[in-house]
Amino acid sequence: MLVLRRLARAGRRRGLAARGLASGAPREAADAVVVGAGVVGLAAARALAMAGREVVVVEAAPSFGTGTSSRNSEVIHAGIYYPPRSLKARLCVRGKEMLYKYCEETGVAHKCLGKLIVATGVAETAKLDMLQRNAKENGVDDLQLMVGSQAMELEPELRCLKALLSPSTGIVDSHSLMLSLLADAENLGTTISYNTAVISAHVGSGGIELYVCESKELQNYPVGSHVNPQLVLLPKLLINSAGLSAVPLARQFSGLDRAFVPTPHYARGCYFTLSQTKSPFRRLIYPLPEDGGIGVHVTLDLNGLVRFGPDVEWISDDGKDPVSCFLNRFDYLVNPARCNVFYPVVRKYFPNLKDGSLEPGYSGIRPKLSGPGQHPSDFVIQGEDAHGIPGLVNLFGIESPGLTSSLAIAEHIVSRYL
Ligand SMILES: Cc1cc2nc3c(=O)[nH]c(=O)nc-3n(C[C@H](O)[C@H](O)[C@H](O)COP(=O)(O)OP(=O)(O)OC[C@H]3O[C@@H](n4cnc5c(N)ncnc54)[C@H](O)[C@@H]3O)c2cc1C
Repeated sequence: MLVLRRLARAGRRRGLAARGLASGAPREAADAVVVGAGVVGLAAARALAMAGREVVVVEAAPSFGTGTSSRNSEVIHAGIYYPPRSLKARLCVRGKEMLYKYCEETGVAHKCLGKLIVATGVAETAKLDMLQRNAKENGVDDLQLMVGSQAMELEPELRCLKALLSPSTGIVDSHSLMLSLLADAENLGTTISYNTAVISAHVGSGGIELYVCESKELQNYPVGSHVNPQLVLLPKLLINSAGLSAVPLARQFSGLDRAFVPTPHYARGCYFTLSQTKSPFRRLIYPLPEDGGIGVHVTLDLNGLVRFGPDVEWISDDGKDPVSCFLNRFDYLVNPARCNVFYPVVRKYFPNLKDGSLEPGYSGIRPKLSGPGQHPSDFVIQGEDAHGIPGLVNLFGIESPGLTSSLAIAEHIVSRYL
């Protein structure tokens, strides 16, 4: 917020307000602006700053990482599931390598625990072979197929017929990761403005005008009403890394052909924690993927606490106006009754799960570009080569494995769009 005031004052001093909108909002030139301080926005800001750009990060919330980046499984994925040559496959595999290296160099807490993908029914066993072949095409060639007894020797509480061991899957402390990325970016001169929302933009070959206001100004706006900007930023480069809001925000970009703005779909994923303190597992345990997600799995955090999730609950976007998205007014409530769905699913591979041992945890929402029953969509990283607007990069559909891929997404942006 300080930045907004500072920039606004600077604009007034230089008489820029006279060139402003009808509202008289001051205008200020900027080099690179990143919208959103989630793990991807922070990684992008750091990479741009490392490439010598002067970066401003504009974040609607009072702090970094309050969106999807703090509502996930914190798993460093190996790159097993995604279609060969897709962005998800390439950026996950590259991102995993970069992330392990970065964590080792900076001391960000992480653990390469390994994971078992398990088949519990005869019909599922062939799918493990398919996954192994797919992973190999993605460059993941360390998977080991094993019979149930071998897997159960590794994990005595597990029940399965066959399993695929992924030794390079791990976990990371996502908050420490973001803190470290932020510190790197700030040390290289990046400025971050919290409580500041981008409300719309005008984009075109003549440049980008980004309309910004304090988030508190949005609090009491009736749904659908017009919001006046308090500042107009004029960036040479704009990275729309607004996570769940990236599509609703791009819809507010006048000058961007709507053909380049995909339809968003949202799927909530709830987690339940295990009340017992001692973990029954040492590795992550995953069933086979399901429609919209990769199955209700066992994840462990760095303190060894166990959680099960996330499930998939498609939520409607109907009536959600952009301002509600920018203020993250999504429904994150975990309905305790959903545990009735979790018990039978988890007991397929963990039969000793006791009644009453699951407690509601937290939820996250996936920013998807494909709806129920549709073929899973890829990440969309859209620059001038796609939509024709110089300096505009939209990041759409950055769902899982976005955390794993964050450093590689940033590398991709720098290599293609600088
Ligand atoms: C249930 C679940 C489990 C997952 N598990 C994993 C996993 O184990 N491993 C993995 O690799 N990935 C996982 N993911 C995916 C991963 O969490 C995301 O891909 C990643 O966090 C996306 O980061 P982001 O920076 O794009 O978005 P976000 O973290 O959502 O950040 C976007 C930011 O933009 C801000 N913003 C929004 N609108 C505006 C605006 N108008 N103006 C200014 N700021 C704005 C928001 O406040 C927010 O801080 C999971 C996701 C979910 C939902």
